[in-house]
Amino acid sequence: MNKKHISEQIIKYCLKMEKDGLTSGTGGNISVKNENRIYITPSGIDYSELIPEYISELDEDGNFLGIGKRPSSEREFHSKIYKTRPDVKSIVHTHSTYACVLGCLKKELPPVHYLVASAGKKVPVAGYAGFGTKELADEICSVISDSNAVFMANHGLVSVGKTLYQAYSTALYIEFVSKVYVISLSCGKPFELDENEIADAVERIDSYLGSKKNLWDK
Ligand code: 13P
Ligand code: ZN
Repeated sequence: MNKKHISEQIIKYCLKMEKDGLTSGTGGNISVKNENRIYITPSGIDYSELIPEYISELDEDGNFLGIGKRPSSEREFHSKIYKTRPDVKSIVHTHSTYACVLGCLKKELPPVHYLVASAGKKVPVAGYAGFGTKELADEICSVISDSNAVFMANHGLVSVGKTLYQAYSTALYIEFVSKVYVISLSCGKPFELDENEIADAVERIDSYLGSKKNLWDK
């Protein structure tokens, strides 16, 4: 897998993120880990302007190797997640509306829909820390455990996967369930799946999203 191919795939998903309404402006970022390199979106550049040469190349510790444009301000948390979770090969960070709502309320997402299983049995909330800081990376990694998504208090969502496709799909599904949950809360008290029901969904959704051959294959 060469850098050009990985960069093209990252850009494809950045454009999807915009089209699917998961962010606004230059908010959010995407990375892929391949061997001992991390490829990440550049900081503060409109997604519609991205070209493969702009994608930044980092070493495993998140140090910029001078290839591509200035890397995302969030490279601390991307590199720390890859170290914390060796199973993770791609990370998607969004500012999607309903994930932000739950993050502002510091409210976990319980299993009110089977698609919560794309993240695990629930979505935990990481405490607030300034964007781009080491403290934010620490907050996220202190709650992520084996979850595939985390709300970031007063900020957004981070989702992870064995593939870019899985990380992106989880971001999309968790935004959908967050919306369903917020609307349900405004009408009554939503029922939650029981322990066996959500455990069954977690077990089966992995083969639906997870066992893909390549980093981005469907
Ligand atoms: P970057 O443009 O530097 O990736 O920052 C966007 C963002 O979402 C910061 O949290
Ligand atoms: Zn952000």
